[in-house]
Amino acid sequence: MKEIQMVDLKSQYLKIKTEIDSSIIDVIEKSEFINGSQVKIFQKQLEDYLDIKHVIPCGNGTDALQIALMALGLKQGDEVITSDFTFIATLEVIALLGLKPILVDVDPNTFNISVEGIKRAVTPKTKAIIPVHLFGQCANMDEILSLAKSHNIVVVEDAAQAFGATYQMEGNRNVHAGAMGDIGCTSFFPSKNLGCYGDGGAVFTNNDTLAALVRSISNHGMKVRYYHDHVGINSRLDTIQAAILSSKLKYLDHYNLDRRKAAEFYDRAFSGCDKIQVPARNSKSTHIFHQYTLIIKSGDRDDLRKHLQSKGIPAMVYYPIPLHEQNAYKNLGYRTGDFPVTEQLCKSVISLPMHTELDIEQLEFITKSVLEFY
Ligand SMILES: *Cc1c(COP(=O)(O)O)cnc(C)c1O
Repeated sequence: MKEIQMVDLKSQYLKIKTEIDSSIIDVIEKSEFINGSQVKIFQKQLEDYLDIKHVIPCGNGTDALQIALMALGLKQGDEVITSDFTFIATLEVIALLGLKPILVDVDPNTFNISVEGIKRAVTPKTKAIIPVHLFGQCANMDEILSLAKSHNIVVVEDAAQAFGATYQMEGNRNVHAGAMGDIGCTSFFPSKNLGCYGDGGAVFTNNDTLAALVRSISNHGMKVRYYHDHVGINSRLDTIQAAILSSKLKYLDHYNLDRRKAAEFYDRAFSGCDKIQVPARNSKSTHIFHQYTLIIKSGDRDDLRKHLQSKGIPAMVYYPIPLHEQNAYKNLGYRTGDFPVTEQLCKSVISLPMHTELDIEQLEFITKSVLEFY
């Protein structure tokens, strides 16, 4: 059996090696390393894929979130609501810009931000909400968008883990993650569902004014070279990364289907085990399984993880510590007990290997090894 990895980027690459290699060499031969023609081509392809007016590629997913918030022109102390159960980047950019992060607990089944929690957290100072589509499945966007609209709050989607997922909006319109709010952000970090071979990210919007601001801010606040209208940053997608992404985008839906098939295999295997809760589905969203995350109800998650490790099966805990308990964010003033669902999930979740290259033999070995522990 092939070695089991959390994510197998090498095997995925080998299947499209010729195409990828020639796209990289092409960039080097043209030597247009920054803002080369492939960046524009990829941008157009993404606009078509997402059915959105503007895509602005940038350096990484964290920058995408930062640039989006900068473009909104928020003032120091303005409140921004987000989830307590996510990767640190979402919270980090709020704090970095001197805005006030307001954390909210999550739904115990889907792991996505609790709409009831948002309702309780909204104040007259709330200027933005950043719902995170965690592990590959969209948050309750119809409710979040209508709540935001009624309070005049901007919605910035963090779609870093759900690129390619769709959500059924009112009128049965299926919209891609990242294309529903005022601004969407994603990451092309190598292990994301659409990953490049280094850092990369993008911002999406249908709003012309915001798009112009985002484009300018991501390139030193300039539109005309050496004329700076805004305080900006340097965050551009490398041409080599754009060329790689351009090749990989056409496989994305297929890749996501492969992940879904692996998830269904796991689901079936664990359906009879009452110690394990398989990932719940939001009926309005597709799930593209950035992670396949179980809840272990018997309190022995860490022992299960050790057992799997002893068999050569990697398993990860996303995330072991709630954001409100992280050392760097103690000053936000939250205490243990403030977000009981997140606190409980951090003690009980475990993510199994999930990628596009898992074969039946590996899946059988993983599920057998989990079940023999119980
Ligand atoms: C990966 C990720 C980011 C950040 O993306 P980078 O490209 O690594 O900067 C932001 N939010 C979430 C939820 C992520 O998973």
